[in-house]
Amino acid sequence: MNVLIVHAHPEPQSFNTALRDHSVRILADLGHSVEVSDLYAMGFNPVSGPDDFTDRADPDYLVYAMEQRHGHETGTLAPDIAAEIDKLIRCDLLILHFPLYWFSVPAILKGWIDRVMVSGLTYGGRRFYDRGGLKGKKAMLTLTLGGREHMLDSDEAIHGKLDDMLRPLLRGTLAYTGMTVLPPFVAWHVPYVDDAARAQYLNDYEDRLRNLDSLTPLAFPSLDDFDDSMRRK
Ligand code: FAD
Repeated sequence: MNVLIVHAHPEPQSFNTALRDHSVRILADLGHSVEVSDLYAMGFNPVSGPDDFTDRADPDYLVYAMEQRHGHETGTLAPDIAAEIDKLIRCDLLILHFPLYWFSVPAILKGWIDRVMVSGLTYGGRRFYDRGGLKGKKAMLTLTLGGREHMLDSDEAIHGKLDDMLRPLLRGTLAYTGMTVLPPFVAWHVPYVDDAARAQYLNDYEDRLRNLDSLTPLAFPSLDDFDDSMRRK
């Protein structure tokens, strides 16, 4: 299968980047074709705005999602966005690979989502969840963080559940656009554990990548269960 890894770490020598490099080797070893968008190395512009369109449906008032639809339909999106969309369309599995920043993704990755997951392709009208534009693709989050597992393993934990923290990504982005969402892979407490523990994370991630087909995807709504006004039937 084709795998797209969208990677967002500013330090090439980081553990997060080592985990990324390790995954590229493993996936290639498994016979997959791997593309990496290394956002910091590319100098990816994360700021959405009027320059994202070389032709405007409405030159006087920017409705960003409407211009995304127009840009996608007419092939007039900015070249850096169009290049990322080509990779997104090609992939069967999308991996967003990042260190957790403020319970979320680094801004450069948020900007990739805002600019590349365009209306008209990934969602639009009633095309969301199991009717989303990226239906048929799988997606997974791979993240490193500073916190410990027990801080995020239940409703009673100090920060609540990790999957609840990641809801804007797991549900609001990946599931919303129709992708089959695999459970996140998490390396906990990364700067504070010893080298042996980090080596174990590399081994655990290798196991994860070798067994992707055996994972149970996360559950999300089906539009079949909702009426035209999106009330549950
Ligand atoms: P690094 O510091 O790069 O690496 C840790 C150690 O691993 C280093 O000593 C490095 O030399 C070593 N290493 C490198 N390669 C290897 C290798 N191959 N094998 C073994 N060891 C290796 N954390 C949270 O939990 N919640 C938050 O909300 C949160 N918000 C943050 C917000 C910001 C703005 C920032 C900067 C950090 C935040 N963090 C948060 C912490 C952050 O998520 C972690 O610091 C980060 O994920 C750790 O991963 P890293 O790759 O950057 O670690």
